[in-house]
Amino acid sequence: MKSIAVTTVLLLGTFSAFAATRVLGPQDHPTGYKDTPLIPGTTWHVHDPDRTPPSVVMPGATNGLAAAPSDALMLFDGKDLTQWRAGGKPAAWKVENGYMEVNGTGTIETVERFSDVQLHLEFATPAKVEGESQGRGNSGVFLMGRYEVQILDSYENRTYADGQAAALYGQMPPLVNACRKPGEWQSYDIVFRAPRWQGDELVSAARVTVLQNGVVVQDAQPFLGATAHRAVAQYAKHEDALPIALQDHGNPMRFRNVWVRRL
Ligand code: MG
Repeated sequence: MKSIAVTTVLLLGTFSAFAATRVLGPQDHPTGYKDTPLIPGTTWHVHDPDRTPPSVVMPGATNGLAAAPSDALMLFDGKDLTQWRAGGKPAAWKVENGYMEVNGTGTIETVERFSDVQLHLEFATPAKVEGESQGRGNSGVFLMGRYEVQILDSYENRTYADGQAAALYGQMPPLVNACRKPGEWQSYDIVFRAPRWQGDELVSAARVTVLQNGVVVQDAQPFLGATAHRAVAQYAKHEDALPIALQDHGNPMRFRNVWVRRL
């Protein structure tokens, strides 16, 4: 087995990140866990390797829904990262040939804050397949910086169902696997409803509908809480509007044509 030396920033829960430099091997990317708690309302453990994987659906030849409407805020038009920052500084992902690429400088977030949104983005996992399970083409869209719609190369790549592409990470697998091949451009069209609070009490969960390459993969699905790794998601009161984040999980993922509409 080949192992690769990488410097990676592992993102845990709500961005309590730590850096680690060591040799990673297959043991670092297991295809599931059984020593994790049960997901409330299910018989599955968090990241359960036995949870039924979604069936594969071949998306249509074109993504559709690609061009930004007149009232959209362009978050990335292929030229610069002025709408993004990382750790309070200007974002430093590589920008070339009309896309931005994860380069190990960390997760980026929007300068502006959002609540309910329609979000369009296009991404490509690396054409050269490296790694496996969660180590292959991993990124993610974090609505409000904490509710992740997973991005992963899930084209013939075994991993736990609640961690594959378009999963609500650690919570809910996608309805189907609508991934294109590594290196091909894919789209997410996301309709997100922020959670509602009365004081500190949650009165309405965050919800998300996701189309991947024009295929519904999440249908008004509630989040159980803020995204967590190897733990049950929990809600914690937060502001009504927060940045959208794109995850640096150590893989050279590409993004283009990212736009948002406030709902
Ligand atoms: Mg991810």
